[in-house]
Amino acid sequence: MEGRLYIVGIGPGGPEDMTPRARKAIESSEVVVGYRTYLDLLGGLVAEKEVVATGMGGEVERCSRAIDLASSGLRVALVSSGDPGIYGMAGLVLELLAREGKELSLEIVPGVPAFCAAASLLGAPIMHDFAVISLSDLLTPWELIERRLDGAASTDLVIVLYNPRSRGRRDHLKRAVEVIRRYRSDHTPVGVVKGATRDGEEVSITTLGGLERHYEKVDMTTTLIIGNSTTFLHGGWMVTPRGYTL
Ligand code: SAH
Repeated sequence: MEGRLYIVGIGPGGPEDMTPRARKAIESSEVVVGYRTYLDLLGGLVAEKEVVATGMGGEVERCSRAIDLASSGLRVALVSSGDPGIYGMAGLVLELLAREGKELSLEIVPGVPAFCAAASLLGAPIMHDFAVISLSDLLTPWELIERRLDGAASTDLVIVLYNPRSRGRRDHLKRAVEVIRRYRSDHTPVGVVKGATRDGEEVSITTLGGLERHYEKVDMTTTLIIGNSTTFLHGGWMVTPRGYTL
C-alpha cells in the first residue's frame, strides 16, 4: 500500500477555525504526529488514532518520524499550528526530503494563520501592506531581525510580531519596540492577542508608548500587531484604512 503524508494546518486552535479539509485529512490518517499542545487541542479528533507526540524544539525529529512512517506505507497527518507553510512544518519536510533525495506522496493542507485570527479579533489592522517578523533568534541572528524590523518600520508597513517572548528571551520585545519607535509615534495603535480562538483568549489594544505595561503578559502564544502611520481606533476596533475615498 502507498503511504501518504498530509502536512496539516490546524488553524489557531479553536475547533471551528479548522478547515473541513484539515479535519478530513486528520480523520483519514492512521497516525497523527505533532507537538503535544497541538495534539491536545485536537481532542476527540485524535482520540482513536495512533499518536506520535513530541515536545517543543523536536521539529526535525517530528518531521523525520512523519516521513519515515509515510514511507513505510501509512497515511500520516503531521499537524502544524496555523498554516503549515508559515514558520511551520511544510518547509522542514521539503528540506529533509531534498537533503535525502527522497520523494513521497505529499499533500500540504493550508490553515488559518494566527495573525489572521488575531487581526479579526482586533478589527481590520492588516488592510494594507504588512510584514510578519518572528522575534525568535533560535534560527535567525538577532542582528538580522533588527534590520528587518528597521526596514518594515521605516517603510510604514503594519508589523505583525510572532514569537514575541520566551523564558530565555525576556527582552526581545522591548528591543524590537525600541527599533520601531525610531520611526513610529507613541500614539500608534498596537493590538495584543493571546491564545486567539483558544480557551482563555485575551485581546487588548494599546499604543506603542503604552505597550510596556503589557510586556509581562506577552508569551509565546501571543501575536502583536503594530499599526502603520494611518491606523486608528473606532468603537474599540483597530483599523488600517485601505485608502478608499469615503
Ligand atoms: N504556523 C503558524 C505560526 C507558528 S509560529 C501560523 O500560521 O500562524 C508560532 C507563533 O504564532 C507564536 O509564537 C505566536 O506568536 C503565534 N500564534 C500561534 N497561535 C496563536 C494563537 N492562537 N493566538 C495568538 N498567536 C498565536
